[in-house]
Amino acid sequence: MLAVARCIATEHDASMIALAVLVCSLGIVVVTQMFEQARASRAMARTCWIVLTGVAAGATIWCTHFVSMMGYAANAAVRIDPLLTVFSLMIAVAGTSLGLWVALAGATLRSAAIGGALVGAAAAAMHFLGMAGYHIDGLVHWRLEYVATAPLLSMALAGAALVVLCGERLGRARVPVAAGLLVAGILSMHFTAMTAMQVASFAPDESSASSDDRHALGLATALVGVLAMAASIAAALVDRRTRAEAFRHLRRLAMTDALTGLTNRSGFDEALKSRLAAAERAGTKLALIAIDLDRFKEVNDLYGHKAGDDLLATLARRMSEQLRAEDLIARLGGDEFVALVECRSREELLVPLGRLDAALTAEVNLEGFAGSVGASIGVAVYPDDAPTAEMLSTNADLAMYRAKREGASEPCFYDAGIDEVARRRIELAHDLRMAVQSGKLELHYQPQSRVRTGEVIGYEALLRWKHPTLGAVPPSVFIPVAEEHGLMVTLGEWVLRQACADATKWPRAWKLSVNVSSQQLNKPGLLELCERVLRETRLPAHRLELELTETAIMENRERGLEVLRQIQGLGVSVALDDFGTGYSSLEIMRRFRFDKIKLDRFFASELGDSTQALAIVRAVLELGRSMSIPVLAEGIETRKQLDILIREGCEEAQGFLLGRPVPLQSLVVEDTVRSGPRGYSMPHCPSQPAAAQ
Ligand code: C2E
Ligand code: MG
Ligand code: MG
Repeated sequence: MLAVARCIATEHDASMIALAVLVCSLGIVVVTQMFEQARASRAMARTCWIVLTGVAAGATIWCTHFVSMMGYAANAAVRIDPLLTVFSLMIAVAGTSLGLWVALAGATLRSAAIGGALVGAAAAAMHFLGMAGYHIDGLVHWRLEYVATAPLLSMALAGAALVVLCGERLGRARVPVAAGLLVAGILSMHFTAMTAMQVASFAPDESSASSDDRHALGLATALVGVLAMAASIAAALVDRRTRAEAFRHLRRLAMTDALTGLTNRSGFDEALKSRLAAAERAGTKLALIAIDLDRFKEVNDLYGHKAGDDLLATLARRMSEQLRAEDLIARLGGDEFVALVECRSREELLVPLGRLDAALTAEVNLEGFAGSVGASIGVAVYPDDAPTAEMLSTNADLAMYRAKREGASEPCFYDAGIDEVARRRIELAHDLRMAVQSGKLELHYQPQSRVRTGEVIGYEALLRWKHPTLGAVPPSVFIPVAEEHGLMVTLGEWVLRQACADATKWPRAWKLSVNVSSQQLNKPGLLELCERVLRETRLPAHRLELELTETAIMENRERGLEVLRQIQGLGVSVALDDFGTGYSSLEIMRRFRFDKIKLDRFFASELGDSTQALAIVRAVLELGRSMSIPVLAEGIETRKQLDILIREGCEEAQGFLLGRPVPLQSLVVEDTVRSGPRGYSMPHCPSQPAAAQ
């Protein structure tokens, strides 16, 4: 150590050493920055950056060496071999490039250490090769212990430098610490190697001119080196900036809806969080306005997707024009938009809401479509209506659904009292969806009997759902929820398939009645579904009966009746369910030949007490007789009701008296009753009591 210090102090020019240290430090700062760039790049860009960093590192090592050598007082005539000098530069560049590549390729601290050691070895190789081209007119003696120590020093320190640089442990100090280690490695290696060399000159060189020349050469080398570093720094900065711009551009693209140019869902989610935080800090209100176009689907279906796209783009532009620059409007998908408007009170919102509404209801004149679509708008205000982003979105949606349901002409503000009911229905719909997916639904079967004999002629499939926390939820609650949330078709398909499969396991070939909802009837594919299910389950078509209410048929009467006709064509029968409660239009009876009329249970419940109910039952029975359509009375609970029906000539009945809905396993094999007047005295009773009704 002392010998090294003595070598520096006595055999070197202080100013040149200072210059060498400066060149080395500057160069290594540049090198570490460029290495960072290489680390952040991938594939070809990374290779290019590794080579560039290698060039900068090799040049730094070489310049440091050359400038120091220009400050070395050999006290003898010196000649420099140009070929070996150039070759030493190439070794430095190639060796450091290789080392840096190894450090990055392995992506482990071990590979970083090996790569760093290679960089140190390249620096030492450069030094000794450079010295081989440094011919001194004298006797040169090499002290081996220093020759051996020099490369070890540079390898160890450069190895440590790259471990620090490639690791994350030192945080922000990582780069300066690594740079310091590299500088220390290069300089300590150089001066230790110089200490190894002892010169006994043949004739001392005392020419001051040659010392000036050396200084000038050293300075020129340092200058060229610094210029090269500056160019590298500039390249790194330009690349970093381009990369940052590209990143910003990509981010903008990822946050933008391509069709309308508005912020998309991801962008909106981010903006909502940051604006809520800002509103909380500033103590202001933030309104979330949920917008759903009313007739968009119609435009898309009738006028094509191009017209639909143009419509969305036009309305998006119009809405943006109506809001202030600081407000945000986003498209979440489909015809769903959302706006964020900062305000001090609800009243203040009325102006932007009115403008948005006007923009949405105004006529549009597009190439493929002209007219107005309108929209349902719901508003929830932070912090009054919700404390979090999720709740604010949900509550604005709830208000918007209400606006849609009620066909409101004005935006609806979230109202906890009203919208909580809707929220519970949404939760129920979610649970129902889960139940459908995980097969948690069940079918129960209720017998339909011939009243005179008590003979079971068929069973009606009735859906049952046991909610994990609410218990048994009646179909009158969950069927409308399923219809509202678009679950009914999936649910209906499951019911039909399961019921048909169950019916094939029954001990007798009873008829199977399956309820069909309006959504199933109105969505294309019911005929095909029936065909498929009958084929798959091998249930004979004549054993299947579909039950539809008048309301279901009336939604799209012509089409609905046509589908039902085709289904009848398969051999499947069609019953009119809950007759007497809906439209009770005789017109429908004229236009379609039902295979059965099911008289709603309301009339049975009134039998015996109400003469009007009896009159209606008589009239319906007469209607059935005159049109040769069997009539089944629903909801028979008492013997008295049954006796009246028998007296009035009703042929078929269904009700708790005759049998409650039961699971498949409990379905009783009992198609006749045992005795009694007119063949009937004992109602059909399942062996187990019914589950929840
Ligand atoms: P629905 O088709 O008229 O079915 C008869 C309903 O009356 C059943 O109610 C049944 O349990 C009930 N019921 C039968 N006998 C009596 C009685 O003597 N007294 C009383 N009070 N009620 C009786 P449930 O199972 O609650 O079903 C209600 C409605 O839900 C059904 O009326 C039907 O419209 C619908 N539904 C049930 N399952 C399905 C299904 O799988 N698909 C469709 N689309 N609708 C279904
Ligand atoms: Mg029914
Ligand atoms: Mg019914």
